[in-house]
Amino acid sequence: MKTSVIFFCTILLSLHLHGQVVRLELLSQKQWTYLYVQCTDSFHIQCDTINLHIPSKHTVVFMLNGKNIQVKTDPYKTIQTAKASFSSLKNDALFALMQNSKSFVFKYEGEFSIQPKDQKIQVINSLPLEEYVAGVVEAEGGANKPLEYYKVQSILSRTYALRNQDRHTESDVCDGTHCQVYHGISKKDIDIFTAVKQTEKLVIVDSTANLITAFFHSNCGGQTLSAQDVWKANLSYCVGKKDPYCLSMSNSTWEKHIPANDWRTYLKTKNIAVSDSEECIAGSMNCSANKRPLYYLHNNTSLATKDMRTDLKLKSAYFHIEELDNEIILHGRGFGHGVGLCQEGAMNMAKKGKTAEEIIHFYYSSVHIVLFDKQWLFKENLPVTP
Ligand SMILES: [Zn+2]
Ligand SMILES: [Zn+2]
Repeated sequence: MKTSVIFFCTILLSLHLHGQVVRLELLSQKQWTYLYVQCTDSFHIQCDTINLHIPSKHTVVFMLNGKNIQVKTDPYKTIQTAKASFSSLKNDALFALMQNSKSFVFKYEGEFSIQPKDQKIQVINSLPLEEYVAGVVEAEGGANKPLEYYKVQSILSRTYALRNQDRHTESDVCDGTHCQVYHGISKKDIDIFTAVKQTEKLVIVDSTANLITAFFHSNCGGQTLSAQDVWKANLSYCVGKKDPYCLSMSNSTWEKHIPANDWRTYLKTKNIAVSDSEECIAGSMNCSANKRPLYYLHNNTSLATKDMRTDLKLKSAYFHIEELDNEIILHGRGFGHGVGLCQEGAMNMAKKGKTAEEIIHFYYSSVHIVLFDKQWLFKENLPVTP
C-alpha cells in the first residue's frame, strides 16, 4: 500500500515536472552498430549492474555485441550490458551521437536508452513534447519563415505526434519521414521558439473532437487532394480544394524527361500493351472532379498516377505528358502527396498577413483548435444530437 502511494506520488511529480514526454527513436534510418557519445556536461550511464559517472567532453563508445551492448568508457574499461541508459543532471546539457570520434555536434537533449535491435543499435530519446515540436518545426519547415507559418507547423507537428503515439512498439515516433523528420533540438531560432511557446499545448481536432491526422506536404501544385483519393481513407477534414497560394513557390512545378524506349519498357512492365512500332505512346490522363489526374490511360488500360509517382520517383502524382520524337516529358506540379496542408501555400498565406488559425481552417475542413489537456472537456461540452 505504502509503495503504491509513493509510486503514485512519483508519477504525479514526474508529470508536474516534465509535462508531456515524447519517446523518440533517433538514427532510425541508420544501421549503426557502434556509437560515439559526448556531452557538454557530466552525465551518468546506467548499465545492468553498474552506474558510471562520465566527465564532460569525455568520449564513450557503445558497440553492438550480439544480444548485448559493450560500453567502453576508456581504452581499458569495457562493460557488457543488455541495455544502457544515460542522462545528465543538468537540464540544458546537450549530447552528440556520432559514428566517428571527430568534430562532435551537440544537438540532442533529454534521457537516452540504448539496446540491440535487428542487428543494429537502437537509440530511444525521451524529451519534453514542446522541445521535440521545436526540432520538428525546424527540420520540416526550414529557416527564416514567417512567425505565423511556424505557429501553424507547431500545431500540426504537435497534433501529429500525439495522434500517432502507437506507430512504434519501443518508441512513440521515429525521427524519419515515416513519422516526422527530427534532426535534434532547434538551433534556437527565436521565431521558432516564440511560435512553439505561443501555441503551447494547442492541437487540431475534428468535428467529433478527436485529434486529426495532420497530413501535410510541401506543395500541392494548386489543388489539394482528399485522403480518399490517395489512401481510400474517408477523413472529413481532408477534402480536396483549390489552392491559389502555392502557385509561384519553389516547388510549384517540375519536369522529367524520359527516353521513349525507357517509357515503353516501363509501360510493358506495368502490363500495358504497347508495341515498338506504335506511333503515339503518350497515353492520356484521367482527371477526377477536382481536376488532378488520378489515372494514366493507354490502350484501354489504366495506371494509378500515385503508383507512377513511386515507380518513377516523381515529385508528385500531378502531371501531364508531352510526347516528342525520342522522349516523353512529364510536366508536373507540386511536391508531395497533396493531402491536407500545403506548406508552401501556408508560408505564402502567412506572408500575406493571414493568421495561423485562418491558415489551418483554409486547409482542413470543419476542425477546431483546442488545448490538448482541455480536449476531453471540450468533448464533453459538444452539443448532444437529438
Ligand atoms: Zn516512424
Ligand atoms: Zn498548395
